[in-house]
Amino acid sequence: MSGGGKLKVEHDSNACVGHGRCYVLAPDVFDEDERGHGVVKQASVHAELAKQARLAAENCPEDAITLRSDDDA
Ligand code: SF4
Repeated sequence: MSGGGKLKVEHDSNACVGHGRCYVLAPDVFDEDERGHGVVKQASVHAELAKQARLAAENCPEDAITLRSDDDA
């Protein structure tokens, strides 16, 4: 993936079952709601936070996190 661009962070609350991996692995990008489900804290991230966001997306067991390049919108 090319660097420099921003990533949009999308979270599918229907798919999320609350494993909590996103807000543990990416605490600056995700937060938890009162049921322990992930919520997006930063909807647009770059550089350091994009690393966190990718880690969360790769480790979400439900594939509830989608990252999109903000550049080619
Ligand atoms: S890791 Fe995935 S399933 Fe778990 S709380 Fe986060 S978005 Fe939801």
